Amino acid sequence: MATRTVTHSGRVQGKVALVTGAGSGIGKATAILLASERGVALVADISMDAAQTVTNEIVAAGGRAEAVALDVSREANWRQAIEQALKNHQRLDVLVNNAGISYAKPIDEMTLDEWRKVMNVNLDGVFLGTKQAIAAMKKSGGGSIINVASVSGIKPSPTASAYCASKAAIRMFSKTAAIECADGKTGIRVNLVTPGGVKTPMWEKMDFFQGMIAQMGGTEKAFAAMEGEAASQKFFTAEEVASTILYFASDESAHLTGTEIVLDRGHTG
Ligand code: NAD
Repeated sequence: MATRTVTHSGRVQGKVALVTGAGSGIGKATAILLASERGVALVADISMDAAQTVTNEIVAAGGRAEAVALDVSREANWRQAIEQALKNHQRLDVLVNNAGISYAKPIDEMTLDEWRKVMNVNLDGVFLGTKQAIAAMKKSGGGSIINVASVSGIKPSPTASAYCASKAAIRMFSKTAAIECADGKTGIRVNLVTPGGVKTPMWEKMDFFQGMIAQMGGTEKAFAAMEGEAASQKFFTAEEVASTILYFASDESAHLTGTEIVLDRGHTG
């Protein structure tokens, strides 16, 4: 793949953007990129420490950011987060529903609590965020909601049943939300970013990957082993996913709603 030169030119200038799960991985890269494109990044995470660290990094680099404590599975948390955005910035232009979790477990070993936890965060969280954002964005005449799904919501993946099911549901939920918002003439767009494998700390939270790290002698070596030799299997970087999210956040994609960008190097066909 060709390397890109990225210039920052205010592609989301003045837009107020809340990113969930922004304390790590894709969410962190997205918050940093949106702020570098002169947006206001509301850095939301269940870990306030992680959200504050990313916020400090953005502010130290001259960007505008604010940390938000948010467990996406809790409706009361969502109300407070949106209230904070409206109180401090008077509007919400962009919501990136990015927070997500996974357990690597076969179905017959997965507990109902583990299944529900994945659904609560990955699916309920996207519903609650979209619901609250629609209400807030209607007041200012529109906005852009970007939901982060996964190629696992298109292609099945063994030991990831709850994750795959939640991501497949996000895809259909988002396309439904897009039609509702368009038909209601709300000015609100809902789009999907659907990545394949991305090098983020999410992998290190899974036991099998920890085992690979120990066996191969390091995280990069474990990623390389998962990729294999084929260039088409290469992992994406969090920054590459963030640049796709930025496109949907900016007015360059003002003509798009209900659209899905799949980062799969052609693999899902
Ligand atoms: P990550 O583990 O690096 O970051 C996830 C962040 O979400 C963490 O900061 C965590 O604290 C936060 N979080 C967890 N539960 C939360 C909750 N209830 N409320 C708010 N925040 C919460 O993961 P990542 O790889 O950056 O994943 C981000 C999104 O991208 C997820 O939705 C994931 O499913 C999706 N995705 C990841 C990959 C990949 O290979 N890493 C591939 C496709 C899709």
